[in-house]
Amino acid sequence: MRIAVLAGGIGGARFLLGVRAWAAAHDAEVTAIVNVGDDVTMHGLRICPDLDSIMYTLGGGNDTERGWGRAGESWRVKEELAAYGAGPDWFGLGDKDIATHLVRTRMLTAGVPLSAVTARLNERWQPGVTMLPATDQRVETHAICSGQAVHFQEWWIRHRAEIPTESFVFTGAAEARPAPGVLDALASADVILVAPSNPVVSIAPILAVPGIREALRGRRVVGISPIIGGSPVRGMADKCLAVLGVPVTAEAVGGLYADFLTAWLIDSGDTASIEGVKVVNAPLWMTDEAATVAMVEAAVRC
Ligand code: GDP
Ligand code: CA
Repeated sequence: MRIAVLAGGIGGARFLLGVRAWAAAHDAEVTAIVNVGDDVTMHGLRICPDLDSIMYTLGGGNDTERGWGRAGESWRVKEELAAYGAGPDWFGLGDKDIATHLVRTRMLTAGVPLSAVTARLNERWQPGVTMLPATDQRVETHAICSGQAVHFQEWWIRHRAEIPTESFVFTGAAEARPAPGVLDALASADVILVAPSNPVVSIAPILAVPGIREALRGRRVVGISPIIGGSPVRGMADKCLAVLGVPVTAEAVGGLYADFLTAWLIDSGDTASIEGVKVVNAPLWMTDEAATVAMVEAAVRC
């Protein structure tokens, strides 16, 4: 059996821990198609937060308390940059993490595509799933704030998603192509899962790559709601949905995917009705791996 998963960073990584465990018990192969809209260049380094969150988490090298980055991280380089007054000061770049960005940037500069760079980094981390960036081209999410484009990282971390925002744009998406292996993974999957990731800034930039959304239509696609009881559980997805004028409900988020979903998995306490989509209830709190495996089981059975 083959499973393809569309995923963002931290929520995607937690979900993939469950998918990987389910797959190990069912002799299934997993391909994760990962958002690159958060990617950013800082101090000349190419940083891919969602790919790295998944790589570190599945590779057992993530910081579980902070929620992002490496376990046992130190911040010497960040301190030294601050001593030079070399901004931005709002972006956390750990010493161990920087090594990943150095290797990635060196390879990208030499002309190696991001998908091949990701495979190379994963030789170390052995995540147990095939990780593909949605695209090898640059697609960067920007918030449009009072007519000005603000990179997603700046909007999210520096401004805490709290400045007046008209819309989001995925710069570069129109010219992007699915990375090698993405369309094959979707075409050969027995089931495609949409992780309970941020619908606006994690899943939408994947769907914005021409060809990906089309490849989902008519397939068996099961989405898992990132919204439980009208709240985004962790993080600030509510602020992103507000920009779109979309209510913070499982039903409204499922509606964003209605054109390709076969089934929409929502929490036991929620209700939703989406035309043409089967709605199924299950506990959706990813409290630990066992709970997440049960979610995956429910999704695969939809
Ligand atoms: P990011 O790229 O690091 O922001 O991570 P993702 O976009 O992959 O995931 C963030 C989303 O995960 C948040 O918007 C939450 O709505 C969702 N989320 C986090 N924890 C849980 C959970 O336990 N259950 C469900 N259903 N969703 C969750
Ligand atoms: Ca992200």
